[in-house]
Amino acid sequence: MSVYNPLLLRLLRVRSRAVLRLGRKVTTWSPVGAAFNAQAVRRPELFNKNVGLFGVPELSSTEGFEVVQKRALQETEQLVEKACSTPPGAVTVETFDKLSDSLCRVADLADFIKVAHPDPQYREAAEKTCINIGTTVEKLNTNVELCKSLKDLLDNKELMAKLDPETRRVAELFMFDFEISGIHLDKKQRKEAVNLNVQLLDLNNQFLMGCHMPNRIDKKALPKHIHQHFTNEGSYIQIGGLHADAPDDLVREIAYRIFLYPNEEMMGTLEELLSCRNKLAKLVGYESFAHRALKGTMAKNPDTVMNFLQLLTDKLKDRTEKDFEMMKDMKTKFNPRNPAVMPWDHPYLSGVIRAERFNIEPSLYSPYFSLGACMEGLNSLFTQLFGVSLLSEQPSAGEVWNEDVRKLAVVHETEGLMGYIYCDFFYRPDKPHQDCHFTIRGGRLLDDGQYQLPVVVLMLNLPSPTRSAPTLLTPAMMENLFHEMGHAMHSMLGRTRYQHVTGTRCATDFAEVPSILMEYFAADYRVINQFARHYQTGQPLPQSMVARLCESKKVCGAADTQLQIFYAILDQVYHGKPQSRSTTDILMDMQQKYYGLPYVPNTAWQLRFSHLIGYGAKYYSYLMSRAVASMVWRQCFHKDPLNRENGERYRREMLAHGGGKEPMLMVEGGFSFTLPH
Ligand SMILES: [Zn+2]
Repeated sequence: MSVYNPLLLRLLRVRSRAVLRLGRKVTTWSPVGAAFNAQAVRRPELFNKNVGLFGVPELSSTEGFEVVQKRALQETEQLVEKACSTPPGAVTVETFDKLSDSLCRVADLADFIKVAHPDPQYREAAEKTCINIGTTVEKLNTNVELCKSLKDLLDNKELMAKLDPETRRVAELFMFDFEISGIHLDKKQRKEAVNLNVQLLDLNNQFLMGCHMPNRIDKKALPKHIHQHFTNEGSYIQIGGLHADAPDDLVREIAYRIFLYPNEEMMGTLEELLSCRNKLAKLVGYESFAHRALKGTMAKNPDTVMNFLQLLTDKLKDRTEKDFEMMKDMKTKFNPRNPAVMPWDHPYLSGVIRAERFNIEPSLYSPYFSLGACMEGLNSLFTQLFGVSLLSEQPSAGEVWNEDVRKLAVVHETEGLMGYIYCDFFYRPDKPHQDCHFTIRGGRLLDDGQYQLPVVVLMLNLPSPTRSAPTLLTPAMMENLFHEMGHAMHSMLGRTRYQHVTGTRCATDFAEVPSILMEYFAADYRVINQFARHYQTGQPLPQSMVARLCESKKVCGAADTQLQIFYAILDQVYHGKPQSRSTTDILMDMQQKYYGLPYVPNTAWQLRFSHLIGYGAKYYSYLMSRAVASMVWRQCFHKDPLNRENGERYRREMLAHGGGKEPMLMVEGGFSFTLPH
């Protein structure tokens, strides 16, 4: 699950676009498959003018970051003045959206460059820009006058009734971002809110750092023959993970017990973090942190989330039990004297069962999934569903940060150019090892009636093509590619009036719907058969192999989902009403009710639950997105995954709105889907 959200700008959630000069130049587009199967051609760039990163001329050198940043801050000042001096109306929202645009004009771009550019000087310059803009955002958070200009609009029922639904929603979203800083409170309370926010920044960082910290133990405490599986450090053994796939039971057990051994300091950090979050939510007027976090989402409130998770549990119950039975049989085979399935066995045993039942060795599949073939498959799918083509365009000199980055123009058969996707697909040692979608520029309606085209980056970590072979994808990589392209198409086909709600900038529990839906396409023979060809022989991938792959994914699927449900419930309870018991006691209780494998004494898994920071009270999002995606699949594409009419319906009812429409209205209105209330 990875739509990149810059943490730095969370406070006001001002989102940015970068000004890209997409000049009218003559471009040559080439077929997408060929472009991705070939190695990048190094062109002599000595005589070509450097157009700057993403075509921003100033960014042809690192000094340019300061220039664009200065300009953005000047524009911000003017727009703040305008917002405060104009009578409330639609223009207030427009000004806020422009302000958000101008202030962060460079922030999203810089946020991306600071993690992705191979040159440390660029990363450093971008990082500085991020910090400076962050400081300005914090100042705006406490600008009472600015907040008042928006509040005047929201308080005026007559004016609000005249606004179109998208404008109204965006006004509310901006206000919601303001609220958490306590700006609407009296002076004393506001100070308290600021203090809590400062404390939380610190606690978040502390917890995140601690989550990944290894634990160590005296060598003598462990049997000698397993030392080799861990990092040796003098007279200590360091354990930095769960070693969940280790075939040796004992290695998994020891890793589990030691990596999850409770750390007093971390325990305190977590308790304090949850208490601070609760205090802040209450101070700004909510019942609990979860109530605050869920406002504006598909679920809307904690009750709906809990009902949804309970319903899912009930539905899966029989299958989950069968899955655990199967694991037990497998463990008995390996270890007849100790057949009880423990939490450290779950991922390993399900992997073994999958491999034993279905021969799905990735190398059998990858020759059929060359990157070029997969890109052709996506192109053909989008053409059939939406009338949209992916066309490869040669980037100009200086436009991209690494020479193997490809640029795709997304072109509609009648509407023309829809936006750009930069594909940073190949592994580099210094780039984040997570597959991710970055919004570089959001779409929005400009004053002159033109539409500002969205620009995104997709980041993957695929092996580079060689002289003799193109990049070959394992089935899991192919599924990831489809998933991330689902995010990209959400960005490309969104046509919101405001960039604040462009494409993937929507409710967290809706954000994964378009991407998970693409996983259904990636698992359907009718789709796969259109593109999966052996890169040497041209032979199609046999249907039986696709069927085997799909069946294998179902193995232990219920137990895997149940584990996610348990995590999601834990996250809800932690962020609900404060309880008089410890976080470990809560975990024990929830594990017993919602998982199925026993709690192991003297462990505290919650101290490794890093998603509590970024997804606080929203960890359920992925499960809910999956439920909606499965519903869209069944209603629109199950019968015919290449149906244009249903493709258009899906685009019109969901993708086009980005975050500009209340998610439940999209789901209920377009697809007759209801959540348990
Ligand atoms: Zn995702």
